[in-house]
Amino acid sequence: MNIFAILNHSGVFFKEEPVRELHASLEKAGYKVVYPVDAQDLYKMIEMNPRICGVLFDWDKYSLDLCSEINALNEKLPLYAFANQHSTLDISLTDLRLNLHFFEYALDMADDIALKINQATEEYKDQIMPPFTKALFKYVEEGKYTFCTPGHMGGTAFQKSPAGSIFYDFYGPNAFKADVSISMPELGSLLDHSGPHKEAEEYIARTFNADSSYIVTNGTSTSNKIVGMYSAPAGSTVLVDRNCHKSLTHMMMMSDVTPIYFRPTRNAYGILGGIPQSEFTREVIEQKVAATPNATMPGYAVITNSTYDGLLYNTQYIKETLDTKYIHFDSAWVPYTNFNKIYEGKCGMSGEAMPGKVFYETQSTHKLLAAFSQASMIHVKGEFDKESFNEAFMMHTSTSPQYGIVASTETAAAMMRGNTGKKLIQDSIDRAIRFRKEIKRLQSESDSWFFDVWQPENIDTTECWKLDPKDSWHGFKDIDDDHMYLDPIKVTLLTPGMNENSEMSETGIPASIVAKYLDERGIVVEKTGPYNLLFLFSIGIDKSKAMQLLRALTDFKRGFDLNLTVKNFLPSLYNEDPSFYEGMRVQELAQGIHDLTRKYRLPELMFKAFDVLPELKVTPHAAWQEELRGNVEEVPLADLVDRVSANMILPYPPGVPLVLPGEMVTAESRPVLDFLEMLCEIGAHYPGFETDIHGVYAQKDGSYTVKVLKQN
Ligand SMILES: *Cc1c(COP(=O)(O)O)cnc(C)c1O
Repeated sequence: MNIFAILNHSGVFFKEEPVRELHASLEKAGYKVVYPVDAQDLYKMIEMNPRICGVLFDWDKYSLDLCSEINALNEKLPLYAFANQHSTLDISLTDLRLNLHFFEYALDMADDIALKINQATEEYKDQIMPPFTKALFKYVEEGKYTFCTPGHMGGTAFQKSPAGSIFYDFYGPNAFKADVSISMPELGSLLDHSGPHKEAEEYIARTFNADSSYIVTNGTSTSNKIVGMYSAPAGSTVLVDRNCHKSLTHMMMMSDVTPIYFRPTRNAYGILGGIPQSEFTREVIEQKVAATPNATMPGYAVITNSTYDGLLYNTQYIKETLDTKYIHFDSAWVPYTNFNKIYEGKCGMSGEAMPGKVFYETQSTHKLLAAFSQASMIHVKGEFDKESFNEAFMMHTSTSPQYGIVASTETAAAMMRGNTGKKLIQDSIDRAIRFRKEIKRLQSESDSWFFDVWQPENIDTTECWKLDPKDSWHGFKDIDDDHMYLDPIKVTLLTPGMNENSEMSETGIPASIVAKYLDERGIVVEKTGPYNLLFLFSIGIDKSKAMQLLRALTDFKRGFDLNLTVKNFLPSLYNEDPSFYEGMRVQELAQGIHDLTRKYRLPELMFKAFDVLPELKVTPHAAWQEELRGNVEEVPLADLVDRVSANMILPYPPGVPLVLPGEMVTAESRPVLDFLEMLCEIGAHYPGFETDIHGVYAQKDGSYTVKVLKQN
């Protein structure tokens, strides 16, 4: 951590004897000293090197500009000024929150100054570190011996075994020392929300603009179940986004509730649209209640915000219109919305509480911020019963939570605070926009095809771009105005094959082939649709990664245009079935898959598959109970029509359930089945292109089966 910058100018400053002495004292105290050549160099250094913990400069030479520039990068960074001559304090400086210390030039003072610098450094670290993490680190540093769990005892047990030692050496000592049991009173308890754990949750709530926040160490899958199980008692009706994550289906299998659904749209590219405004109105909800056996007016509603393709809602409209006590925004994909003003009014925690309503936002901290896998947060705004809520929390939480996950969740919050946090998010947005423009430039310079970006014509303003009913780029029909917005960070690239009017062209390049190519190059795509690929510009994406992706895309184009053999171009794919791919060229492969997609009339199928929902026969809970009782049988996929599905059927991608347990695919909802059959047929034809479909079982003979309830 301890890098100290001394701002040099014209070669004069650092030659001075006092600085030379200070340099020696700082090194003795364990600091690494660096010398930026000028102010610009210093700013770059601070930006690129978060381990810089102090800056020394000459007050007579630099003051106001330097301080305000550094302030914008990190307002907590300790600054030290050598003040020699008259030295006045500029009045506008007092407006800045600064951590500024003055020293006089003098000889033989260096050790004293280094001591003071060291104190300020420690205070600085103390200030930027969040409470639980600090307590945990302190606990580890004290190195207590314990005689409780975990059984590895700070890593000791691993080192008594050859395999264990290899494991230990890989992770290093602190991973084990910091893996401590819940019985350390000084660290409090996650389950009781006491001690440093409580402080961590309060710190997170302040950071994320929530009334209360909860740290969940088992992903948003668990956060969603906690929220759902608290908010919807048995026998009640829940209003669920049909484009929901499977954890919400699981919640409905666990809890005896009756679902009714928000019906989102889907565009011709197969991109998930939003829920239209009308779906939030009382009239439409009443109609759904009337059409569903045993349904009553719902008290709890859950909306996926943002959608899987990066569309955010006008949440203020939803909060004002939707007449349920509990409104849950599943924001697994957007834990950063509180840290840039472009997201204002588009997320669960923005705006004020509303009397009689409770707003939740669940976020996968690990997905887009920096935290260990499974790190998740629940944020709440409004009045709720904390004790009952905590029962639901504990019902889903291990009595031995991983403190590393807790600390990383809290550290993710610490990283978002202040100007350093704002800058991280702003940089991600800027980087994504630059990438978008770069693709557009390459496209305009290309003599033939190139990748396109799913975005408005004009992206010159940094904002979440509105899906305007007057525009056609988004490919949605009859969209509401001021309702949905595209997050710049979520970049969807389009491959040739389909246009925004749902027309399929003669030739095409299915996105799955591009995804396979990128995978060969070590680039993993977040999500692959039929002719679209999604890339996330999270804070971990730096310039070199963005450049690598651009390179890979242009290389793909070159290889594709040269019509290389599958063997050369996609060796891993070739190896999945060498005899099948022998001699095949990439254009033939692309066209083959494209032709299958055309045969099934994918655009129409997509619309229809999501337009008419299968019919609810029994609740997901009841269907699951039937499965447990053994009242299910496996039938060929083609026989799904007029049978009640026992499982949820969920193709990945996009990872949203198509059929829920207890639902029957009827003649009207048959496109659902056609869609599944298309996915299966592509997989059956082309080794390596099998779609992973939860709830559909591949048999040895190449056929597919599903589980349905037995007919009495
Ligand atoms: C990923 C995801 C979840 C589950 O989050 P985990 O942290 O992986 O458990 C929930 N909802 C949505 C919308 C998701 O995309």
